[in-house]
Amino acid sequence: MAGRYEPIDSPDETTLFPYHDLTPPTVATVARARQRIRQHLPETPLVRSEALSEALDADVLLKREDTLPTGAFKVRGGVNLVASLDEEFHDAGLLAASTGNHGQSIAWAGREFDVPVTIGVPEEANAGKVGALEQLGAEVIQYGEDYDEAREHIEDLATQREARYVHSGNEPKLLAGVGTAGLEILDERPDVDRVFCPVGGGTAAAGYCTTLGAMTDADVVGVQAAGAPAVYRAWQDETLDALDSVDTIAEGVATRVPFALPTEILQAGLADFRLVSEDAITDAVARLFETDRIVMEGACATAVAAAIQAGDELRGETVVLPISGRNIDREKFDRLLAESEY
Ligand SMILES: *Cc1c(COP(=O)(O)O)cnc(C)c1O
Repeated sequence: MAGRYEPIDSPDETTLFPYHDLTPPTVATVARARQRIRQHLPETPLVRSEALSEALDADVLLKREDTLPTGAFKVRGGVNLVASLDEEFHDAGLLAASTGNHGQSIAWAGREFDVPVTIGVPEEANAGKVGALEQLGAEVIQYGEDYDEAREHIEDLATQREARYVHSGNEPKLLAGVGTAGLEILDERPDVDRVFCPVGGGTAAAGYCTTLGAMTDADVVGVQAAGAPAVYRAWQDETLDALDSVDTIAEGVATRVPFALPTEILQAGLADFRLVSEDAITDAVARLFETDRIVMEGACATAVAAAIQAGDELRGETVVLPISGRNIDREKFDRLLAESEY
């Protein structure tokens, strides 16, 4: 088929291929994803934080996505996508660009279904992260000065190899898989008032909008770092314009370009969107270690920080905070604990 593996016009500034269908997930596609992933991934615990519940005079429930294999929620999406992958890609395999949890998710799912995976990372990528990807059986290509250069190289390879480029946001199967967390919460606690969700590309928050947000009275609140507000701006000003640069310690949410599909879902489904400072993120990492002995990434800490910032507003509510990931380097963790005022 001519052009099948050539990039096509995209509503945002990212690269899309003809197999990137931008139809939003529905409750039905999330329910199907749940059936698909259940043989491969455990459900995650929803655990009350005594310390945060007392501090906020609320019922604060932590959705422990850090207990999933790879230590982050993204693997839900990776497993759903690879479990339902078109046969034509089984041999050519999957390509993705990511120094973080997206790459690990696709590598883990590829190994689970015996589909070859190649992950592009910048030349200077942290050796620990490269090692973790290789341990999952992925081919790691170190290329370019930064994420964008690595990504462009991977997109070219996708054309050359006729392989499946897995976008980190414009993928209905990833969104539906990620949304399964919302259905799990609904089974246990249909009475949730609010979910604070970190937003990088917006897949996690889109999943909560599609499930808890659409099926219950819960308000889904998106949270970004004030130093990386691309999707906040997209949500508020209805634009898909990229930022020139971002600056935050929370690399898991340091997205420069809003993605069309999750952004559209957030524009329709988010009740509110908050920004948090670097100090608030640092304190949230230290605080959850101190009070709940949870090790979490800066990305995850944005949502915890937003709940703390909301303070009295949450009195009497049932609030869910996803513990979205635990993949923080020891060096960074030590530094954040040392710098924190908490
Ligand atoms: C990717 C990621 C986020 C942000 O999720 P998006 O779906 O990109 O908005 C938050 N926390 C962690 C740990 C992540 O890996």
